[in-house]
Amino acid sequence: MTTQQAVKTLKNFINGKWVDAKTDTFEDVYNPATGEVLARVPHSSSEDVADAVAAASAAFKTWQRVSIPKRAKILFKYQQLLVEHQEELGRIVTEENGKSLSEAVAEVGRGIENVEFAAGVPTLMMGDSLTTVATDVEATNYRYPVGVVGGITPFNFPMMVPCWMFPMAVATGNTFVLKPSEKTPLTSQRLVELFQEAGLPDGVLNIVNGSVDVVNGLLDHPDVKAISFVGSERVGEYVYKRGSEHLKRVQALTGAKNHTIVLEDADLDAAVKGIISSSFGSAGERCMATSVLVLQESIADKFMAKFTQAAKDIKIGNGLDKGVFLGPVIRKENQERTLNYIKTGVKEGAKLVLDGSEEAKERDGYFVGPTIFEDVKTDMTIWHDEMFAPVLSVMRAKDLPEAVAIANSSELANGACLFTDSAASIRYFRENIDAGMLGINLGVPAPIAVFPFSGWKHSFFGTLHANGKDSVDFYTHKKVVTARYDQSRFK
Ligand code: NAD
Repeated sequence: MTTQQAVKTLKNFINGKWVDAKTDTFEDVYNPATGEVLARVPHSSSEDVADAVAAASAAFKTWQRVSIPKRAKILFKYQQLLVEHQEELGRIVTEENGKSLSEAVAEVGRGIENVEFAAGVPTLMMGDSLTTVATDVEATNYRYPVGVVGGITPFNFPMMVPCWMFPMAVATGNTFVLKPSEKTPLTSQRLVELFQEAGLPDGVLNIVNGSVDVVNGLLDHPDVKAISFVGSERVGEYVYKRGSEHLKRVQALTGAKNHTIVLEDADLDAAVKGIISSSFGSAGERCMATSVLVLQESIADKFMAKFTQAAKDIKIGNGLDKGVFLGPVIRKENQERTLNYIKTGVKEGAKLVLDGSEEAKERDGYFVGPTIFEDVKTDMTIWHDEMFAPVLSVMRAKDLPEAVAIANSSELANGACLFTDSAASIRYFRENIDAGMLGINLGVPAPIAVFPFSGWKHSFFGTLHANGKDSVDFYTHKKVVTARYDQSRFK
């Protein structure tokens, strides 16, 4: 917390206006590559939440009745504006999150995809009907928005993850209160400004900055009908339980520990490239990052020689600098936590083949170099915990069934990847792995916006996932009308 006045203090966005939060608690927002303070973010109060929910409730009365093609037109305009501002938004993402500019611009592109998908709302929201369910009786299913939706987002994708939520929620006629991560709140500020510029009416999308109190305010408020959450397993479980207790529909996309398997018939050079990007891109702070690599024994030594060299060649630095691949982790605490995990890995008997700790000493920002452990076992902390850092655990298995069994012993089951040239192995993997997003011969199998982001086990709490048709179902109620049309007069 800070009391300094020199940096900009962020405001909340309520009913189309930037307003001061009703709080005297603030937190610094850092550029993790330099340690520079970019802004101060308020820890808003439940009063701020109530103001935003009141604005969203009032706006819902009219927004739900705005014609669906008109809503789609606003989304089309928003898409245009986002494309025009893609580079600018990418820079904001890099400054507040630390990932490289090319990854940040690509992230903005993924967010834009969600807007494009939501702009298809006239067909997505169509109901269905059956002409004859009994003599002269028809049944028709209509979709309606649920009301005010609360969105709670993590630090690691400040553009893409909010875009998993509010574009589809408002396209389907809901109004929205977004609580962005207090660590990366700046991108959302620009996102809402551009949406207003595209013609979104006041009160439809609101932002309340802050942390736990805002989350609890949204979870407890009787006028918030649905909660979309993305973040860690611990907080997601809490949000799911507390939101459900208040009888809201909740979707909580949570932590990950993604296993990637490389078989002896794989193209090893392509696998090295894909896994370097997956494990160390965005400093390992991706819910689809490969954090455990399981190598078939027969190729393990050969693979590791190439892979370790490629990891050593990674360019580390400020994501705004040309050619930089690996930026910092988000905060000093995350850096310290990662360094402790490296010590724990060594203490528990894993073999440290590449140590990124030195990078932490040499730079101002919160850097950790690429780190690789071999001989990792499933009873070790570094295998079990989601470290969310550029630290990779490597294991060996004699064959695919053994490798799949290792992956399936994790409670976290967001994604999993397989590198192979064998169709039979691909089928075995698909049928037997307990994870919701699979990659074949690629490192980051994050589905495009038209498919659900479908984590399993403790990587997701709820029923309907974000994105794809699931998101339309999550943000809409259904009404089925069964109607008799007496035809006797025509006989
Ligand atoms: P986090 O859980 O710390 O924070 C997420 C949100 O919850 C933030 O807005 C934060 O303010 C709020 N929050 C934090 N502590 C809280 C508490 N005690 N009570 C109520 N609210 C609280 O997550 P993070 O560190 O910002 O993000 C990283 C996590 O997000 C990782 O676990 C990652 O795997 C996960 N993630 C998952 C997906 C997915 O699709 N499954 C996508 C992106 C990130």
